[in-house]
Amino acid sequence: MQSNLVGDTVNILDMYKKDKTLLSFEVFPPKKTSPIESVYGVLEELCSLNPAYVSVTYGAGGTASDNTCAIASKIKNDYKVESIAHITCVNSTKSQVENALNSFKEHNIENVLALRGDIVPDLPPQTDFKHASDLTEFIKKIGGFHIAGACYPEVHPDAEDDISDIINLKKKVDAGAQFLISQLFFDNDSFYKFLKRCQLAGINVPIEAGIMPVVNKKQIQRMVSLCGASLPAKFSRIMNRYENNPEALRDAGIAYAIDQCVDLITNGVSGIHLYTMNNPYVARRITDGISNLL
Ligand code: FAD
Repeated sequence: MQSNLVGDTVNILDMYKKDKTLLSFEVFPPKKTSPIESVYGVLEELCSLNPAYVSVTYGAGGTASDNTCAIASKIKNDYKVESIAHITCVNSTKSQVENALNSFKEHNIENVLALRGDIVPDLPPQTDFKHASDLTEFIKKIGGFHIAGACYPEVHPDAEDDISDIINLKKKVDAGAQFLISQLFFDNDSFYKFLKRCQLAGINVPIEAGIMPVVNKKQIQRMVSLCGASLPAKFSRIMNRYENNPEALRDAGIAYAIDQCVDLITNGVSGIHLYTMNNPYVARRITDGISNLL
């Protein structure tokens, strides 16, 4: 398994090695009603699994950005694992983004995932940034950060089609995105086809595959309605069969995710980004299942 940051800063870009797959995690801040400390135990357990880095989401509509900063800081400065702070722009002005970036810098956070964010009907967008590529360009101009971008193997839901989505992704990379993290998917072939489209478009940065272990029934329904990932017949059969047996569903979901990871590693992908859902038990089982392959 890859070695981790101990003490000094490690450039995430240096962690991507030819013929090696990197494993990273994603976590989210606790709900506004819970104290930030409530997530520390989870973070400590996740960091002990030695991921290459942990990324921290940004509340929809730019809410609770302070928590993103505090958690990314805790991961990096206390648990000594490199971190990435997500940042969205659709509901932010340039000065709000600048303030958030300044706090990241004050906390020694050097990596950001630059996102547009979802357009929420009851929150009219601000006009300073239209696309993630605008935010990326802005952050690059300010300087001092490694910048990641999001990508969508099964095409972003707002995009006209797969070709325009790839052309837009190329704009984001040209604007300064140095590596990409994908939306979750359950069908590896859709990811491999996406990698081919990226290659054709001249997108040559590392692209990590987003893997979400589905371990409970509520999650299945949320996944389908939120991100529109296609569900292969094998996946649906498993979910249908075990949906009312929580332990079997959890084990089957973990096994499915491990199977996806083994195939991705065998095919030489740059990285696997595990959407941990703040669940160290599931992350541990998956990490244990693939650690000898990394
Ligand atoms: P963009 O890259 O701006 O793309 C959005 C749409 O605009 C696409 O259809 C694209 O084709 C089009 N487009 C892009 N650039 C251009 C251009 N220059 N000209 C014309 N059209 C263009 N959301 C959160 O609120 N918080 C998070 O922490 C968060 N983390 C995420 C992490 C990952 C790995 C992923 C995959 C998504 C995450 N999201 C998060 C969700 C994300 O904010 C939404 O999917 C959002 O709708 C799009 O954000 P984006 O940065 O991909 O947007």
